[in-house]
Amino acid sequence: MDRCLFCRIAAGEIPSRKVHEDDEIVAFHDINPARPVHLLVIPKRHITSLATVSDADVPLLGRMLAIANRLATEQGSPDGFRVIINTGRVGHQEVQHLHIHIVGGPDPVGPMLKRV
Ligand code: 5GP
Ligand code: ZN
Repeated sequence: MDRCLFCRIAAGEIPSRKVHEDDEIVAFHDINPARPVHLLVIPKRHITSLATVSDADVPLLGRMLAIANRLATEQGSPDGFRVIINTGRVGHQEVQHLHIHIVGGPDPVGPMLKRV
């Protein structure tokens, strides 16, 4: 499971519109944006989901969130944004490589979830 779609994007084997890259983390535009700003922040190393992180990943997760904040401001959502981490079946995670969605833009993104 070390050559999934996002592993291949991180390695540059599949093209993406990257907005950040360092030794541990890559961020790029979502291919099918839900809002005017829709970025994905991923670890380069394969981690399946938030459900499989360990204590050793805590610094990485913190850095991913800090990068998300910086990119949201830089990429067109300076007045706030939402981060989403879909996790597992119930969380409707479609790509099995941990990713933080950043969604935003000039207008409010709307209520968090439709209440049942
Ligand atoms: P999930 O439902 O797993 O949280 O979200 C996966 C996200 O990955 C979706 O928003 C989808 O549009 C995005 N995505 C899927 N395949 C690709 C791809 O090949 N390139 C990019 N840039 N985004 C992708
Ligand atoms: Zn992967």
